[in-house]
Amino acid sequence: MQELGHWINGKRVAGTSGRFADVYNPATGEVQARVALASKAELDAAVADAAKAQVAWGATNPQKRARVMMELVRLINRDMDKLAEALSREHGKTFPDAKGDVQRGLEVIEFSCGAPHFMKGEFTDSAGPGIDMYSMRQPLGVVAGITPFNFPAMIPLWKMGPALASGNAMILKPSERDPSVPLMLAELCQEAGLPDGILQVVNGDKESVDAILDSPVIQAVGFVGSTPIAQYIYERAAATGKRAQCFGGAKNHMIIMPDADMEQAADALVGAGFGAAGERCMAISVAVPVGDETADRLIEALVPRIEKLKVGPYTAGDDVDYGPLVTSAAMERVKGLITSGVEQGATLVCDGRDFKLQGYENGFFVGPTLFDNVTTDMNIYRQEIFGPVLSTVRARTYEEAIGYAIDHEYGNGTAIFTRDGDTARDFANRINIGMVGINVPIPVPLAYHTFGGWKKSGFGDLNQHGPDGFRFYTRTKTVTARWPSGIKEGSAFNFKAMD
Ligand code: NAD
Repeated sequence: MQELGHWINGKRVAGTSGRFADVYNPATGEVQARVALASKAELDAAVADAAKAQVAWGATNPQKRARVMMELVRLINRDMDKLAEALSREHGKTFPDAKGDVQRGLEVIEFSCGAPHFMKGEFTDSAGPGIDMYSMRQPLGVVAGITPFNFPAMIPLWKMGPALASGNAMILKPSERDPSVPLMLAELCQEAGLPDGILQVVNGDKESVDAILDSPVIQAVGFVGSTPIAQYIYERAAATGKRAQCFGGAKNHMIIMPDADMEQAADALVGAGFGAAGERCMAISVAVPVGDETADRLIEALVPRIEKLKVGPYTAGDDVDYGPLVTSAAMERVKGLITSGVEQGATLVCDGRDFKLQGYENGFFVGPTLFDNVTTDMNIYRQEIFGPVLSTVRARTYEEAIGYAIDHEYGNGTAIFTRDGDTARDFANRINIGMVGINVPIPVPLAYHTFGGWKKSGFGDLNQHGPDGFRFYTRTKTVTARWPSGIKEGSAFNFKAMD
């Protein structure tokens, strides 16, 4: 049995707490490794070493730090297939989807190569008589990233890029469900030239998370995961004076107007609803067709597409549309929610509960599931299912449709499909949701924009990646300077390259 430990001070180390969690191959249901769960003492020791290492890293000129990011880009590209394979094996997503996971993280490392630009402050010459005023951006010191299972490459890289490039040391606490890829990324950081101690990967569960939150040394926590934990982290981090950005769960609505291109909308819904088995915070889980005629056409277009979906292990290659859920508990929870939908009166159009795959009977698979006539009081509407389940809520009018999305407690992403610019514009302006797609089902902003949800999908103000990522992991100092009159003659000014 493979044992996964931590990455501390530039090497893999075994855990000492004596506590472990099982890491599954979700396609077969077998335990393929166990991961050490750090104690508070192990976490505190990693933080202390990170704090020592950060002093020199924070003082390194930003261009040199950016060069480490440039080399990391090369190494991640070199090892793309290796990373994606390890990711699929532990997470269960298809190989092309795993490559997408690595790629969208890599793009934030590419963006982080611009760190010297983002670290620049502002300058006012002669703010008063003989007085100059300027601001500088400085790293915070030791910061933390706490990440979820569903993007084990992308989200750690979203945290690492801006945090490390701006001169911080980072404690990364990845998900205990799929810990291999974050450890591999740490190895690549070292190969790229990151000094030891600047990235400490500490595997663990609530004990290590609480130790992060209570640490007087750690200055900021970037969290991504479920909403109850996001809120908990936000509150406890604030209690010790840390800054926190905590991104939570989602229930993303897609509105389909009567004038939408129905073939395009149905294709988009199938990809956005069932891709990665619905285990994406930007998955579309609620379809809101406007008008019964639109709804009937939508269901008619969706059913044959859903029936054609191929569910299987990542090892089946391109022949698979999506894979298993991450754990048996996740699978049982999703099946339980499907049953609750039936009991509460929704129309079950496609039922994925009895899905079985020959040779993979113990895998955590759920077949694609489609509900019609879902109402807002049902559990399947109120809760994030995080599985391959698409709910259809019929709306009579555009106002009713936008109202559903506005009133839902989550506000991560949303989309509208229409040919009418005026409707789309009104939707984008009025919706109280962080990321909006117009004829685009999964509007994940690229690395140079920022990513973040509203309402119960995001706590804190600054978003992830883009310029906000650098703002979150740095702080501003403003200097007001007046110099006594000095000697202006006799000095030698040699043009000299920066060391
Ligand atoms: P999770 O909340 O269970 O775990 C996230 C992290 O918190 C993990 O590192 C985990 O070890 C830790 N954790 C879990 N329970 C804890 C506790 N009681 N105390 C302290 N720490 C704890 O989330 P998950 O199941 O790994 O990920 C899926 C969730 O993440 C979904 O809700 C999904 O929508 C959300 N998500 C959100 C975004 C976003 O950007 N908004 C992106 C990806 C995933």
